[in-house]
Amino acid sequence: MVKNYMEILVEEHLSGVIKDQEHIQSCKKCQEDVQAIALSNLKPMYVVTEKGSLYAKLNEFSLQFKSDVLRELIRAVEKVSEKPQHEDL
Ligand SMILES: [Zn+2]
Repeated sequence: MVKNYMEILVEEHLSGVIKDQEHIQSCKKCQEDVQAIALSNLKPMYVVTEKGSLYAKLNEFSLQFKSDVLRELIRAVEKVSEKPQHEDL
């Protein structure tokens, strides 16, 4: 199975980045928008996942990419919180 590792990292760090964002925290749509915007600005990194070996390998990359992922997530949260992509707030 091929997976974009950035998706995993973005998911992993999302909750920390939105913890002060009352609306986004309770809004699935905004959370998905934040993830989509952040992922669009991050270079994808595809990994082949195999049972057992996945997480050991991913931990190696985790620190390397954490600051990029956090930076893009924070930018995306700013964008979405200024202008949510939906009307029904
Ligand atoms: Zn929303």
